[in-house]
Amino acid sequence: MRKEVTDCLFCKIISKQIPADIVFENESVLAFNDISPQAPTHILVIPKKHIERISDLTEKDKGIIDELVFVAKGLAEERKIVESGYRLVINNNKDAGQAVFHIHLHLLGGRSLGWPPG
Ligand code: AMP
Ligand code: ZN
Repeated sequence: MRKEVTDCLFCKIISKQIPADIVFENESVLAFNDISPQAPTHILVIPKKHIERISDLTEKDKGIIDELVFVAKGLAEERKIVESGYRLVINNNKDAGQAVFHIHLHLLGGRSLGWPPG
């Protein structure tokens, strides 16, 4: 059984206590549109397992980030943004701007993205 963290926004989206615009789901991963999109495609891809941040990953979590990347790759193909390009981002802690402490991979595309990020 998946251990839900009751005060975690994304765990509540996983358990459908809070609605989200879900675009992909399997047994270990969920993807939904970002509520405040920063690009025409802005999807968050999250593990169903509650892990707060990248720096909390342990050996037994190996493979989880792979899964997020593969789901994002497939969604980018669906959205036809492979040729134009897209960016995958995971923010870790305060200086990176992490606001929700349940690992999420941002898939951003559909417009030209500035670099370096702010
Ligand atoms: P980060 O700053 O990397 O932690 O990103 C958190 C992201 O979650 C932001 O892009 C928010 O717009 C997004 N977000 C916050 N609440 C929701 C929600 N209820 N549904 C979808 N996206 C959300
Ligand atoms: Zn969570």
